[in-house]
Order: sequence, then C-alpha cells, then structure tokens
Amino acid sequence: MNQHTPPSVVAEAVARIKDALGSKGWLEDSSDTLKYRTDWRGRDVGEAVLVARPSSTEEVSSVVRVCAEAGIAIVPQGGNTGLVLGSIPTENRPAVVLSLDRMTRVRTLDADNFALVAEAGCVVKAVQDAAAAADRLFPLSLASEGSSTIGGTLSTNAGGNQTIRYGNAREQVLGLEVVLPDGTVFDGLNTLRKNNTGYDLKHLFIGAEGTLGIITAAAMRLMPAPRGRETALLAVPDPAAAQALLARARELSGDTVLAYELMPRMCLDLAIRHIEGIADPLEASSPWYVLVELATASPIDDLRAKLEAILAEAMEQGRVTDGVIAESETQRAALWRIREEQAEAGRREGGGVSCDVSVPVSQVATFLSRAEAMLRAEEPDLRLNTFGHMGDGNIHYLILRPLAMDGGAWTQRNGHLVHQLNELIAEMGGSFSAEHGIGAQKRKDLARYAAPSRLTLMRSVKAAIDPTNVMNPGKIL
Ligand code: FAD
Repeated sequence: MNQHTPPSVVAEAVARIKDALGSKGWLEDSSDTLKYRTDWRGRDVGEAVLVARPSSTEEVSSVVRVCAEAGIAIVPQGGNTGLVLGSIPTENRPAVVLSLDRMTRVRTLDADNFALVAEAGCVVKAVQDAAAAADRLFPLSLASEGSSTIGGTLSTNAGGNQTIRYGNAREQVLGLEVVLPDGTVFDGLNTLRKNNTGYDLKHLFIGAEGTLGIITAAAMRLMPAPRGRETALLAVPDPAAAQALLARARELSGDTVLAYELMPRMCLDLAIRHIEGIADPLEASSPWYVLVELATASPIDDLRAKLEAILAEAMEQGRVTDGVIAESETQRAALWRIREEQAEAGRREGGGVSCDVSVPVSQVATFLSRAEAMLRAEEPDLRLNTFGHMGDGNIHYLILRPLAMDGGAWTQRNGHLVHQLNELIAEMGGSFSAEHGIGAQKRKDLARYAAPSRLTLMRSVKAAIDPTNVMNPGKIL
C-alpha cells in the first residue's frame, strides 16, 4: 500500500466509484476479481481494491476523476491477453483495475467511408464480423482475436499475421476517444483521411500500454472485402531462400502477399507431437518451411496463376523444393493450424523461454544464422524453434531446454542466453520486443537498449500528461 494514500481515503474513493457505477459496474470480492488480477500466463497475480466495469465514457471519466483525486493507481484492462504484465497491478500501492469489458458496442459503421467506430471493449473478432457483415474487411488479425479487445490491441500496437500487407494496429486508426489521467475526455474521434491540423495526438496513446490514458473508443479504417485467397505450405532449404522468395513473391504477385510465416522443422515436429489432428502435409521432411498466403479484393484477379508462376520460378532456382497448395477451406485451415498452434505446442513441450524479436526484413536470415551459432557456442544441445512473421522481420524465438539438462540448471542458465540474444539484436539494429510491448516485464530491457534521448522524451511526455503517475504506474518506464 502507498503510505501517501490513507486507507480511509481509499475506502471513501471506492464507495464513490461504486456509487457512480451502480451494482453491475464493480467487483470487490477477491474471488470475483481474481481473473482480472491474474496474468494471462497464470503465473502472476496482482492486488486491487476494486475492479471497475464502467459502461460508458462518462462512467470511465468519473472513475478516473475519483482515483486521480485520491491518488489511487488505475490499471486499464481489455481482454487481459497481454504477455508482458501490462494489464494487472504490479506496484505496491492501492490500485483499481478498470476493465472495458462492458463497453462493447460498434457505435457506427460507414461502408462508403470504409470506416467504423467501436468502443474499446469490443473484441477484435466482433469488429471483424461487423465489417464482414457490411462487405468490408477489418484487417487486424491475431491469434488472440477472440479475446483481445480494440483498446488493448491499440494500446499495445499489436501486429499479427497480416502486418506485411496492412500494417500494425496503429495503421488502422483514424481517430481516438481517450479519458486522460485527470478524467478529461479527449475527443479525437473522426474518420478523416486527411487532417493536418497540428500534432496528431492519437499516436501518443497507441502503444502507450495504458500509461497515458484510457482509450474508450476508436475510429478505424476498413478495406474492401477479400474475393480470392491462395494458401500454400512450401518446403525451403534455408531462411536465405525464404527471404529471397518473399521479395520475389511480392513483386510477381503485385504485392498481394497477405501473410508470410517462416517455420523450421521443429514447428511441425512439436505440432504433430502435441496437437491432436495435425499431420505432416508433405511427404519428405525439410529443414525449413514457409506458409504463404496471397489475397485479393478483386474478383478478376487470378491469384492461382500468380502463385503457380511464383512457385515455378522458385523451384527452378532451388528456393523451393516441395509444396502443397490448399484446395479447400478445410485444407487451408489445416495448414494455418500448424502455425497457430505453436504457442500451445511449445507450452506442452515445456522448458522454453520465448523472445519476440525483430530485425529489418532483409536481415532475418543473417540474424537466424548468427544467433544460432552464438547460442550453440554457449549450449551445443539447445533446441531452437524460431518461427514467425518473416514478412515483418518478426521472429518468435523459442529456446528450448537441452533434453539432458535438468530444470534447475536450465532456470539458472536461460536468462544469460536471452541476454546474449538481446545483445545481438541490439547490434543488428533490431528490437527486443517486436509485438508484445514492455509492460512491467521488459522495463529493464527498455532502460538498457533505448537511446537516452528517447527515454528522456518518453519521461517528458508521461510527466506532461500524467504528472501524478496514476495511470498504469510501473509499466514501460
Ligand atoms: P490487455 O492484455 O487487457 O492489455 C494490454 C495492455 O494495454 C495493458 O498495458 C493494458 O493496461 C492496456 N490497455 C488495455 N485496454 C486499454 C484501454 N482501453 N486503454 C488504454 N490501455 C489499455 N500480440 C501481437 O501483437 N500479435 C500477435 O499475433 C499476438 N498473438 C497473441 C496470441 C495469444 C494466444 C496471446 C495470449 C497473446 C497474443 N498477443 C499478440 C498479445 C496480445 O494479445 C495483444 O497484445 C493484444 O492486443 C492485447 O489486447 P487485450 O485486449 O487482451 O489487452
């Protein structure tokens, strides 16, 4: 507890919040609040004096105003799928978890303007469905889309499988409504494509992980609905071949590459071993694979011809040795399942540390070979599962415990291996956190790897917008 906030002040603030929200708008009993205080991985549990569940922007503003006056920390929360301890309280001071899970309306959808406005608690899948019902595409897609929310996805600037084509969450945003740390509502909701009228403040709140304010609604762009899609799993000799193929596929397909996922053989082995119903789609084993998907919004675009032309050239050049093209939606889903089940397969295999790193797309193959050589020099029997969004230079780097090493020795050793990997990433101009953010978990890494001038500027922004540090304290900085 914070010595500066006497329990009587906390109790009075809690009573005022309950009053403002009504009986449906809060949870206090520790068993009721447990899921809101527990990290997605289930390893960390925070303390909260209350879980507030406002149903409108005005109610969010009321809660924030009371907390700000009393000096109570506010931890915004969406689907609680974040992976860096950002969405639960982690500091030793009274905190209210402010869940957006009752703010789930799509407020407006303007198909002709290719835009919609959704409340922050809408899950990503619901926004995709609303867009599809209007014959439009909401292009953000990630494995957690059935649970993660618009507010959380924007606050972490989430990526996903289609970043290569449509960009990260940030690129989808046209305007935001945000409750600031003193309770003021910043109304930046507009669906304009052009609006050069001074600082574009929405970008401050995207990727801020709830440390500058609470996003309550977002205006987002939509795309024409897809009319054609082709998916293939390709066997490639090495990441360098995959990298060369990516550039060529973008050129030959007229930049219709929607997803481009690199997988080593280990991905298939783990998926086949741990996930029911997954079989090897190809006869012969290959050291590396690429899952490639092309998509078009045009009904007259012959994607199959494009894919076949890409494959014919690649096979002639030895960049692809074998492959399978999905002939049905069922086959397509089966190919994607191999990639999408990697988190679960890795979890069941156990004994791994996972890093979410990126380098420039042109450096992925070099990074993978340098990293493997460096780590094997440390531990020759390491098992590596290095897969991910090659099209964005983003690799999920899973380092698995050598089979002969016991758990205790591994726990002592793996921190050093991750540090070595991060040092290499820094040397290559990459990022130690490509998709998942900083939260409470990676603050030390940020302090180590961010340029001092950047940290100073970030602290200045935080101090200007949240001078009393009530908004998600202990995260990022
Ligand atoms: P939460 O976990 O609730 O919160 C995340 C952060 O945002 C916290 O700091 C929180 O305080 C803040 N926040 C939440 N809502 C608001 C709000 N309304 N206003 C201000 N701050 C807010 N990430 C990727 O980028 N790409 C992936 O492909 C991907 N795949 C994943 C797959 C799985 C299985 C899981 C568990 C996670 C994955 N993630 C991925 C990470 C995570 O899902 C994303 O970061 C997600 O967008 C978080 O959304 P959420 O609603 O769950 O946010």
